[in-house]
Amino acid sequence: MTRYEYDEEASERRHMDVVHELDDGPTPVARWVSAMRLLNSIDDPLARKILAIHRDCGSGGGECDSMDDESVPMNDRREWGCETTAVIAGHFGVEYPGDK
Ligand SMILES: [Zn+2]
Repeated sequence: MTRYEYDEEASERRHMDVVHELDDGPTPVARWVSAMRLLNSIDDPLARKILAIHRDCGSGGGECDSMDDESVPMNDRREWGCETTAVIAGHFGVEYPGDK
């Protein structure tokens, strides 16, 4: 069981939610959550619109997911939900959070 600790001070300082995991490395879920936070920090109207369309990609029910795709539990996600999201993220220098 993984526990998380919300870092109020760091969150305030960085104007984003900072969560420390009390266990080993970040879990896929934690990484996914930080990935979404990073995307949310992109301040470009067009990028934001595109990302909004692709928000559910990778979950099995998103714009780029085929109807036949099984829904992917967050625990199994290792990368951006789809290529479009990856391209936007790359353009803004946002890297998918890795095992660090
Ligand atoms: Zn997509």
